[in-house]
Amino acid sequence: MELYSGSLYWDKTVEPSYRFEKVSEGKETQVLIAGGGISGTLCAYVLSALGMDVILAEKNKIGKGSSLASTGLLQYRSDKMLCELVDDIGEEQGRLFYRMCLEAMDQLTSLNESLGRATEYRSIDSLYYASEKKDVKKLVREYEFLRKYDFPVEFLDEDQLKRRYRIHKPCALRTWHDADVNPYGLIQALTRKNMAQGVHYFENTELDLDNIQSNKIITKEGYPIQFEHLILTTGYSKIYPIIKDKIIIRRTYAFCSKPMRDDLWKDNVMVWETKNPYLYFRTTMDHRIIGGGLDEDQKELELDGEKILIKAKSIAGQIETIFPNLDIQIDDAWNALFYGSKDGIPFIGKDPVQGNRYYLLGYEGNGMCYSMAGALILKDYILGKPNVYKDIVRMDRGM
Ligand SMILES: Cc1cc2nc3c(=O)[nH]c(=O)nc-3n(C[C@H](O)[C@H](O)[C@H](O)COP(=O)(O)OP(=O)(O)OC[C@H]3O[C@@H](n4cnc5c(N)ncnc54)[C@H](O)[C@@H]3O)c2cc1C
Repeated sequence: MELYSGSLYWDKTVEPSYRFEKVSEGKETQVLIAGGGISGTLCAYVLSALGMDVILAEKNKIGKGSSLASTGLLQYRSDKMLCELVDDIGEEQGRLFYRMCLEAMDQLTSLNESLGRATEYRSIDSLYYASEKKDVKKLVREYEFLRKYDFPVEFLDEDQLKRRYRIHKPCALRTWHDADVNPYGLIQALTRKNMAQGVHYFENTELDLDNIQSNKIITKEGYPIQFEHLILTTGYSKIYPIIKDKIIIRRTYAFCSKPMRDDLWKDNVMVWETKNPYLYFRTTMDHRIIGGGLDEDQKELELDGEKILIKAKSIAGQIETIFPNLDIQIDDAWNALFYGSKDGIPFIGKDPVQGNRYYLLGYEGNGMCYSMAGALILKDYILGKPNVYKDIVRMDRGM
């Protein structure tokens, strides 16, 4: 199943310094991770740091799933506002969910500090603006809940937004503890760290996910892998029966510009908005703009390069209405499938029937932040430790 189409950007920025063999004999391990995207890579990191014996098996190449199509904005606030979560799951659960994301962001920041410059990780603020006047009330309510629980947030009224950021919108929330990153660079740097921590990697190794036994799975080439724990981090490639009625599939578009001047806008803040589907954009370390949006209710990829480019130009045009002094030239344009959940919360946890099988499916807009949070939750499951967040994201929750 193809997850994206068009011309991507991140794979042009960094070449992997490793290649892994495929599984060509039976294997045995304490933890088997299926999938080498950001979720599998973070799980491998967290568990191998504890000295666990870990195999990671990837059906294609490490880091070339949806993680490669990601635009690399890392934010503690999710597409689902805290005030909406309060309405849906209650104030305490909503607060905990946002706390989980904030902690995940802080973990990502300290992890990236240990990985060097290749990850292009930058701690950067986010601006979330009201697209229309009617959204101001909602943003004020969101601000009040965030403030009540000490989340890092500032409210900017129309005048402050204009003076400080030259953005002409009714108001915005500024948040910090956020970051932008080169997701492919992050996966590669972390893979090298994981190898040093003893993780055994295999590429071109597809696991037969439709025939998982309690302690064994077979590769598509027929080799068995025995495990004590199995973690499924297969992204959007596989829809598991336990969540099949709880997900939303969309098609989304993104682009990366040619390098531009170095003072694109104040503090290189990441920008997004209240409208749905929303426009979002960021800069890169070499002064490009990466933007995305125009989500469509489509379950198939757009394969026509011309049509993808038209969408990319439309997103760039929307950014130029925010910053009219920009003249954005597009270098790469792509579209991708993008999965959400009906309640706006990712699926992370134990299989209700098979106690040694776990899922980390970071569906929704800030999937990579969820990947970090999920790796920590699954670690606690495996260690048999309590975790205050696990009930909120568990696989068999009601909707
Ligand atoms: C256009 C776009 C923009 C996005 N922007 C952002 C953003 O700015 N910020 C953010 O936080 N998130 C963003 N996301 C979401 C983010 O990309 C995903 O949440 C994240 O990459 C998912 O990582 P993953 O490891 O779970 O999945 P993947 O990266 O897809 O990795 C799963 C891996 O599993 C492998 N696999 C599948 N089946 C098998 C099998 N049977 N055996 C072995 N291996 C298997 C696949 O080959 C794949 O490599 C964006 C997504 C898209 C599409």
